[in-house]
Amino acid sequence: MSNLREAIEASMTDIGLGWEERLDRSEERIRAAIAANIDDATLDAHETEAARLREQLEEDDANLAHCDEEIEKLRGALIGMVRQFGHWSDEAGGYMTGGLSALQDAFEALRWSDPRPEPEDRCEAPGCTKQRSSGMPTPDGYRWLCYEHYRLVEEATR
Ligand SMILES: [Zn+2]
Repeated sequence: MSNLREAIEASMTDIGLGWEERLDRSEERIRAAIAANIDDATLDAHETEAARLREQLEEDDANLAHCDEEIEKLRGALIGMVRQFGHWSDEAGGYMTGGLSALQDAFEALRWSDPRPEPEDRCEAPGCTKQRSSGMPTPDGYRWLCYEHYRLVEEATR
């Protein structure tokens, strides 16, 4: 039975009271029942909206995570391209654009300075800032060396 129906039924059983008092009690009960119904309906609407927003948020999170993955993948590909095709600066011991617009765009997308020092890609001979080209076993262990140092070590160990 609905709140409103209960309120009306309760009013019909108010016996032994004056007309005015019965009216007052009825009105009070009915107002309370209507208010309760409105609160329930409002609460239901809010809960439905909250559930919809939660669902939307989860969807957005999933989309964002997917975008982050894509960006990481593209960044990795771009870095690979620059390392393979970018110009090497012996002075900086790293990569530079050499004024090529495609490389300038790539550096900008990666937020790299031009030139960009890159110790990991340098020759491992002490003090050398040339780009490493080949790895080889040396008396000091396996080393990644530039073309010149590679040849020097090769000649020395012949
Ligand atoms: Zn070297």
